[in-house]
Amino acid sequence: MATMKAEKKKGTVIVVSGIQWGDEGKGKVIDQESQEADLIVRHGGGNNAGHTVMVADIFNGGQQIPMVLHLLPSAVARRKAIAIGAGVVVDPLALVNEVDYVSSFGYGEVRRTLSVDPRTALVTVIERVMDMAQELIRSRNGKPIGTTARGIGPAYAGVANRTALKVADLLHPKQLCTLLEQRLEEATRLFRAMGITSTQWRQIFADLTGMELRANQRLIERKLRTEADFDYTVFASANGKVGFNFAAIEAAYQNAAHLITSWRGVRDVSDLIRRTVMLSGRVLLEGAQGAMLDVNFGSWPNVTSSHTLAGGACTGLGIGPTLIDTSIGVAKGYTTRVGSGPLPTRITEPEIAASIHQRGNEFGASTGRPRDVGWFDAVIARSACWWNLVQTVRLLKLDVLSGLDEIKICFRYCLNGERFYQVPADYHQLNDSGLEPEYLTLPGWEQDISKVRRWRDLPKEVKGYVAKIEQLLNERLPQRVTIDQIGIGPGPDQYLTR
Ligand code: GDP
Repeated sequence: MATMKAEKKKGTVIVVSGIQWGDEGKGKVIDQESQEADLIVRHGGGNNAGHTVMVADIFNGGQQIPMVLHLLPSAVARRKAIAIGAGVVVDPLALVNEVDYVSSFGYGEVRRTLSVDPRTALVTVIERVMDMAQELIRSRNGKPIGTTARGIGPAYAGVANRTALKVADLLHPKQLCTLLEQRLEEATRLFRAMGITSTQWRQIFADLTGMELRANQRLIERKLRTEADFDYTVFASANGKVGFNFAAIEAAYQNAAHLITSWRGVRDVSDLIRRTVMLSGRVLLEGAQGAMLDVNFGSWPNVTSSHTLAGGACTGLGIGPTLIDTSIGVAKGYTTRVGSGPLPTRITEPEIAASIHQRGNEFGASTGRPRDVGWFDAVIARSACWWNLVQTVRLLKLDVLSGLDEIKICFRYCLNGERFYQVPADYHQLNDSGLEPEYLTLPGWEQDISKVRRWRDLPKEVKGYVAKIEQLLNERLPQRVTIDQIGIGPGPDQYLTR
């Protein structure tokens, strides 16, 4: 990538990816990087992701509060041009809600600054119900994957099956109506064939309603919506049998289509990037989730359905790999994961886990589920640095580790005498309960570092910890990885440049 730089004439393109199991703090990094950017583009995933940024609540005295974004790039508070690329899957009802949500903080111009690629696939109530029905069946077999039930997996399956609806369909109300009708009929047959009972069917819609009410609290509190607006039970057929209420679904999606098209932002995002680069602009590409959730390279089968790696930006946005100048990896100073699946460096001391949990506020941004916590795992971060060809790492949340006597870093795994410096490609090995993480133990630090202003004022143990992680990440990699910034608190200014 670096060698192409001299040959490329215009523009700068930066991709930001999570190099753990997601929730690394990408939102904060994107928010910070977007200050210099002309265009910020989300390349993959759907509203199963949750990026938290601290923003000024304009309607509430400018007080800094967290804003959680699921679909819109984490740059809305910077009032920059933002875009959703073809690799994303968009729930149009969720998009309309999220635009109103960010407007409630005072960032309503997002309606003018947002572009959505017409090629982007839609998540509809069909995919949401399918997500829940499939998890129901997996749970029955004792193998739930811990999906966020946002319909993302089935939406990507619809892309692969070539049955998905597209954002382009929102531009054509008649066709949207016909396609919805066809898909609802097919889906009804499928759900009946799956053996979903009418009781389970009603429960799924009741659960979706509960989920929507929880997710949209702010809109209800601000009286921008009523509870009835999130009643998904109206989408089920009125006779209580497995089936849909076509009229209610049609009305909801036509309404969303009308709103989204009224923003006039449905346009070719690949071409938008081309034009921005032609004008020597700076483009920031935002990934969702993390490397270990990538559909091909993550901890199978507990992965998301999209390509979370930097390469996903190429396939998801219609750009070539050599357009990208810089690959930034985001990690926390420890490891977390939400949902089911392996976490080799899981912290076994309950009081240490509880402290990190609490201080780091480790609850899923989309689901509120508590995240499992582990020591920093240099094996996964190193593999992720390779998969993404990361040049620069942002190591966040080091403030959360204050007060620990000792801190461990996993530098390799051992399984049946075999040593692993990279994530085992055989997922049975990664999931093997005999997989032993091997640790280095470093001294911790007592001080609260959240108010330190200069790198040189950090306790030497913090500097030592960062240097050790950097050294471990660079082992056996062809590129040079540098940790150039650390996070010392959730605030937009709470980071230190090395
Ligand atoms: P994302 O999905 O990668 O954007 O990550 P999340 O939004 O799920 O989680 C990151 C959380 O950590 C957010 O609440 C951030 O405000 C917070 N955060 C980011 N950097 C730091 C940091 O350096 N210290 C602390 N204490 N919190 C941070």
